[in-house]
Amino acid sequence: MIQTVRGTRDILPDDMPLWHRVEAVAREAFRRYGFREIRTPIFEKTELFARGVGEATDIVHKEMYTFTDRARVDSIQSGGESLTLRPENTASVVRAYIQHKMFADKSPGELTKLYYIGQMFRRERPQAGRYRQFYQIGVEVMGSSDDPAIEAEVIEMLDWFLKELKITNTTLLINSVGEPASRAVYLETLREAIRPKLDQLCTDCHHRFETNALRVFDCKNESCQTVIKDLPTITDSLDEASRQHFEQFKAHLDARGIAYTVNPRMVRGLDYYTRTAFEIVGHDGLGAQNTLVGGGRYDGLSETIGGPPTKGFGFAFGLDRMVMALPESEAEQLRAADAPDVFIVFLGKTARAHSFTVAQQLRAAGVAVAMEFEDRKMKKAMAAADKARASFALIIGDNEVASGTYGLKNLKTGEQESLTLDEIISKFGSVPGAVATG
Ligand code: ATP
Ligand code: MG
Repeated sequence: MIQTVRGTRDILPDDMPLWHRVEAVAREAFRRYGFREIRTPIFEKTELFARGVGEATDIVHKEMYTFTDRARVDSIQSGGESLTLRPENTASVVRAYIQHKMFADKSPGELTKLYYIGQMFRRERPQAGRYRQFYQIGVEVMGSSDDPAIEAEVIEMLDWFLKELKITNTTLLINSVGEPASRAVYLETLREAIRPKLDQLCTDCHHRFETNALRVFDCKNESCQTVIKDLPTITDSLDEASRQHFEQFKAHLDARGIAYTVNPRMVRGLDYYTRTAFEIVGHDGLGAQNTLVGGGRYDGLSETIGGPPTKGFGFAFGLDRMVMALPESEAEQLRAADAPDVFIVFLGKTARAHSFTVAQQLRAAGVAVAMEFEDRKMKKAMAAADKARASFALIIGDNEVASGTYGLKNLKTGEQESLTLDEIISKFGSVPGAVATG
């Protein structure tokens, strides 16, 4: 028996209503806040992530699915290109922004606001809430403005999104990681502070110390955390402009009534972040993998991958984890709503043939109809309707075919009415679940 690859999984039909709900609420949030969707390829040139995400990150250093594309047989060059399954999507979206010159026809201050939904790939140790193929929904705001109000508005959108999903037990963590120049000075201070304690740090942290010491803060190792809690933070050595930017950002959050906690040790996993970084941490049913949303400002990223100077701010959340964070009562309701409106119960050959027409007409009118094809006794057929979790059973026998009125039985209340097809169709116009079209 061939099974799924380690760290990947099937999302089964029982869970799909939960995924659809999170996606639908996200799309509604994006519509209200003026974001438009973009879809980029699932694989890109390795160089995009190596440069865009940064060589010093865990992602590039040890988590990417990279392969050499097959060489063209008629090519004089030997060997194909190095390609990578996308581990995240910000670098790809910024690449698309540059490639399609989305900045070209913009008036000063005009922003490009994009969102994406799709799978990402990272070769991590699989755990609950941590997979090798997982899904992210994210947004990117790009343009010439780095107004902290942009950041607060994006967080306000997330706040609405979480409330709409009834995910209430979360904490917004914020920090500023400063500008590259002030960070360079701080990094020296940090390295000096780490050096005498290097022997207490894990091998990954040794690598981080060599390549980008800030990444040490990301370590999830407990023994490293005891060292980390005494290290000087970047927040203490912020440049004046970044400090002011951070103060304004907080004031914008305050004005929107959004609660937050400043966490000077939260630096986020990507090299390209400047100034504002944030996380939203959940508490219910998530275990150790409780970071729902991660985001921040990435003003230098466009230039890093060959584009014009561009300011950028965005976030990504893990769809897998967001689904896990849905309250159980919501999940139950969503699953229950994912059922047929009507299950057709027919009795006898003539009724069976007639049922096909009835089903066709109901479906054409927007009603979700289930029917099975086997001619069964009433009791068995009703059991099948229950099993399908249908709201109603539509009973069709020889008498019903002759009279043109059908028995419509509410399977929750047990009430039964005799109705014509038109009456049934107009009834479903007002039943939740039956979608009106046209
Ligand atoms: P973590 O600290 O949990 O490893 P990260 O800093 O690597 O997260 P980001 O790269 O910022 O995460 O991605 C944003 C979000 O995507 C995370 O907050 C999380 O919800 C989700 N995510 C990241 N990696 C995975 C994964 N392997 N499986 C499932 N979800 C993930
Ligand atoms: Mg990670």
